[in-house]
Amino acid sequence: MYDKLSSKAVEFIDHEEILASIAWADENKGNRALIESLIERAADYKGLSHREAALLLACEDEELIQKMFALARRIKQHIYGNRIVMFAPLYLSNYCVNSCVYCPYHAKNKTIPRKKLTQEEIAAEVVALQDMGHKRLALEAGEHPILNPLEYILESIKTIYSIKHKNGAIRRVNVNIAATTVENYKKLKDAGIGTYILFQETYNKENYEMLHPRGPKSDYAYHTEAMDRAMEAGIDDVGIGVLYGLETYRYDFVGLLMHAEHLEAKFGCGPHTISVPRICPADDIDTADFKNVISDEIFQKIVAVLRIAVPYTGMIVSTRESAESRAKVLDLGVSQISGGSRTSVGGYTEEERHDETSQFDVSDTRTLDEVVSWLLDLGYIPSFCTACYREGRTGDRFMSLAKSGQIANCCQPNALMTLKEYSEDYASADVRVKIEKLIAAEIERVPHPKIRAKAVENIKKIASGERDFRF
Ligand code: SF4
Ligand code: SF4
Repeated sequence: MYDKLSSKAVEFIDHEEILASIAWADENKGNRALIESLIERAADYKGLSHREAALLLACEDEELIQKMFALARRIKQHIYGNRIVMFAPLYLSNYCVNSCVYCPYHAKNKTIPRKKLTQEEIAAEVVALQDMGHKRLALEAGEHPILNPLEYILESIKTIYSIKHKNGAIRRVNVNIAATTVENYKKLKDAGIGTYILFQETYNKENYEMLHPRGPKSDYAYHTEAMDRAMEAGIDDVGIGVLYGLETYRYDFVGLLMHAEHLEAKFGCGPHTISVPRICPADDIDTADFKNVISDEIFQKIVAVLRIAVPYTGMIVSTRESAESRAKVLDLGVSQISGGSRTSVGGYTEEERHDETSQFDVSDTRTLDEVVSWLLDLGYIPSFCTACYREGRTGDRFMSLAKSGQIANCCQPNALMTLKEYSEDYASADVRVKIEKLIAAEIERVPHPKIRAKAVENIKKIASGERDFRF
């Protein structure tokens, strides 16, 4: 029985409600007036329910799809402007006791070399990441109670925050590790993590159990209820996502939005971010084995409808996607991307080889500087901002500021100040020229005059060597 306030996974992600939502969307997908009324209503930035969003996703009328895309662009521009937040993944260990059939780190894969970074190796990776210009990381580790216990993750976070190399610093560490206990989530919070990220992979319980035949992750309820435990432990910012291609995309799309509605109803704050990975090739993984792989067109539609349905939730795309695909979804709603990523353990300090320790094949293999340059050419502002978490603007405090529109007075100057730092410390000569031109134009778009004046002053101070200003 569907109950979005329930603590039980099978009730807040009710299978029958997902099927009923899809059936309702199918019945109504020819109802032009209804779809148009939803598109009009969603222009108020208040989002849509999972059923309403399922209907937009089912719509096949090209003219209406273009209207949805136009609305998604408008919402993105209104809330996120042309800023794109940058981050990089950092793989700590690929030892894993689980059996996820879509991941090369599964325990039975004997062809992949296993590796776990020591604290010295982590420090070297962090120096390499800082030398690229990164300020925000997403930690990744397989689940292994003996080799990757929570103490190892906590020690690694401490190491990462402690490294100050030249002008570099990692200012926000997001963490993507296996579902755990409230007690452990409290320890992660105390370690100063940014977002706790955990992908559901698929919300279809039966399919989930087939895709995860062994290991602790095979417990659907424990995995699906993880964000409740994280939020109970005081982690305000959680990041959810499914791996498109494992299940029919319509099922997982509805399940994802029901999860977001559950968190909002129960904790007063929905997910901070939604990631939109698609299944892609890797060692021991052939995408031909997955019959639900989605096309670029469907992928773009998913991003656009998510942007409309949950306007204030950041949306993340990784280097699994090609530059071309990333450009399309940036336009339709994605607000955060990784750049210069290595998806192998130790990848930032060693030459990465396709067949070694990568979790997935990277499509976008450009350096961070090349990605920054490309974003600038497309008219975006690459942002290395990490201010909210450091200013205590998390969870509902962040959401209320975002919904009031006041966040633009933080995001815009913070983006420009952190981009100025990038320009001074890491950019190539031609990227620097582009950045200086962009800052001169974009500083005028900081809404509040006093904040604008302060940002101008801070940018001058950055040019003369000071660092780490934020609003
Ligand atoms: Fe392990 Fe995560 Fe890969 Fe599953 S997806 S095998 S839990 S690393
Ligand atoms: Fe993100 Fe906050 Fe920085 Fe805006 S000010 S980019 S919301 S961290």
